[in-house]
Amino acid sequence: MEKPYAAGLMWFRRDLRAHDNAALYHALRHCKLVHCVFVFDTGVLDPLPRQDRRVEFIRESLVQLDEALRELAGDPAAGLIVLHGGALAEIPRLAKRLGVQSVFANRDYEPAAIARDAQMRGALADLGIALHDSKDQAVFDREELLTQAGRHYAVFTPYKNAWLAKVDAFYLKPYPVQRHAAGLAPRPPEDRRPVPGLAAIGFEPSNLAQLPVPPGLRGGAQLVEDFAERIDRYHLTRDFPATKGPSYLSVHLRFGTVSVRELAGRAHALASAGQPGAATWLSELIWRDFYFQVLANFPHVADEQGNGHSFRREYDAIHWERGAKGKQLFEAWCEGRTGYPLVDAAMLQLNQTGYMHNRLRMVTASFLCKDLGVDWRWGERYFARQLNDYDLSANNGGWQWASSSGCDAQPYFRIFNPVSQSRKFDPEGRFILRYLPQLAGLPVDVLHAPWTARPVDLESAGLVLGRDYPMPIVDHDEAREQTLRRYAVVRKPEQARATP
Ligand code: FAD
Repeated sequence: MEKPYAAGLMWFRRDLRAHDNAALYHALRHCKLVHCVFVFDTGVLDPLPRQDRRVEFIRESLVQLDEALRELAGDPAAGLIVLHGGALAEIPRLAKRLGVQSVFANRDYEPAAIARDAQMRGALADLGIALHDSKDQAVFDREELLTQAGRHYAVFTPYKNAWLAKVDAFYLKPYPVQRHAAGLAPRPPEDRRPVPGLAAIGFEPSNLAQLPVPPGLRGGAQLVEDFAERIDRYHLTRDFPATKGPSYLSVHLRFGTVSVRELAGRAHALASAGQPGAATWLSELIWRDFYFQVLANFPHVADEQGNGHSFRREYDAIHWERGAKGKQLFEAWCEGRTGYPLVDAAMLQLNQTGYMHNRLRMVTASFLCKDLGVDWRWGERYFARQLNDYDLSANNGGWQWASSSGCDAQPYFRIFNPVSQSRKFDPEGRFILRYLPQLAGLPVDVLHAPWTARPVDLESAGLVLGRDYPMPIVDHDEAREQTLRRYAVVRKPEQARATP
């Protein structure tokens, strides 16, 4: 095929891999020479705390991507140009300096990124340069799956059925970047610099290196291999936070150090061969696509700042705890001081590692809005700051599911009991004790609700409630009643009659 462009620029964003990368493949297919760039965008980085696990994860992943690109090109002068500045100024400036005719990038569905890309398209067009975007983060995106009536899906199960009915080798096949790697251009001599260290972009090391979160292409590949040994049991193990059940791949999916096509392809093949673990895991990847399309097709769920708005607009009328009381309850939740061990251990896991098990995300989110009566958006923002795998679409979807304001959310009158959840999913308290070792001396039957312990048990555990571990900040049964009253503003008259 005759290549229409003499030179192109591949702009990496949340797709930090050199294999099976849609935009990189299209760039190499259409351009005789392809330069590669990543921008540490000050617009994104400036508001972050100076120690941020995600920035460090990205930095480490760029080092590996740079190596992979040079290896692929077979040329030590090839590799990644890494810039630090505002992307809207840096990309057009670089594109002009390199004399490229086109910039290639993978599509992003977040409102701020959509706005940035629209501006970028205009700025590049002013220079006579085209911007091409590709689908890469999702297997199906935007309007590829519509209901029979031509509408966007707002309910998961029919979406999943449509996804499974449409998916085939065409959608899952990898993009063979390596076949065209000869087109990777050597960097101009002034750009042959190593990936800048954290200090050079104004950051300090976080605790990432101490965590089992191996970054980059090698880290992603290692976790994929590790999970391959367990995927057959995923449906049985995934709900128990003390068990190594899930894949822990979310941060790699977030930054594209693994390919969702490749993962979905493997899971689909195993599921088609009748493996229930793989079928359940594939469903989780479909939830990920589902929330991408919700964000793309129902843009009212989040604004450009990433703030959430209820999918069901009537839920925005709920009166949440605000003022000093709301703030106090929220802070206790953030810091893992609610007096409910499963909730507290989960929040400590989040604060210390940037990861939280899916079951616990559901429990803590429900606890914040349905036990403490605090606005789900406060929790959504807190997760956004803390999660290594923070993804606006999945986070917004997860919070709206828990608060009942979302599409296909759990009904508002279904309220998780944090003690029953604890007994069911952490029966021996193994997860709780990892983060709350001060509860170790309690008999296991009261570990889930320490305030029910007999004085003799507290004494033999050497535990003083209120000193070593908090008393519960709310009574779950009372909170439940209050929540039903709080949610009454969204109740339709017939539901109000049916609900006791
Ligand atoms: P696995 O169980 O191995 O799942 C595999 C992959 O499927 C995940 O890596 C993820 O990419 C995807 N996935 C799994 N569950 C979901 C889901 N419910 N929605 C969308 N995708 C899913 N996930 C994020 O990636 N980023 C977030 O910011 C995020 N915030 C959440 C907030 C709340 C309140 C809730 C209830 C869930 C949230 N999730 C989020 C979804 C889910 O909890 C995580 O994806 C999962 O815990 C990550 O761990 P894992 O990679 O080991 O998952």
